[in-house]
Amino acid sequence: MSGRTQARACPERTCVGCRERAAKSDLLRIVAVEDECVPDPRGTLPGRGAYVHPAVVCLDQAVRRRAFPRALRSAGALDTTELRKALAPEAEATP
Ligand SMILES: [Zn+2]
Repeated sequence: MSGRTQARACPERTCVGCRERAAKSDLLRIVAVEDECVPDPRGTLPGRGAYVHPAVVCLDQAVRRRAFPRALRSAGALDTTELRKALAPEAEATP
């Protein structure tokens, strides 16, 4: 690569799952509400945010390395049940 980057025009964040950088718009913002990870697709919830690809593989990696409590400055573990449902609705639809 040469010349100036387009960082200013396209804000980047690091996915807490796979640790790859991606455009903020390609990642899902996660905030901690009480002891639960809540998806914030519109980016309107207050507080610290963590960014993850909207994919179960990245969520799994983030959970495995306890990235959410670290990124969100939470003292304890965070529940990701609802977040997983949001990312994998088809798994929940099975009777
Ligand atoms: Zn990712």
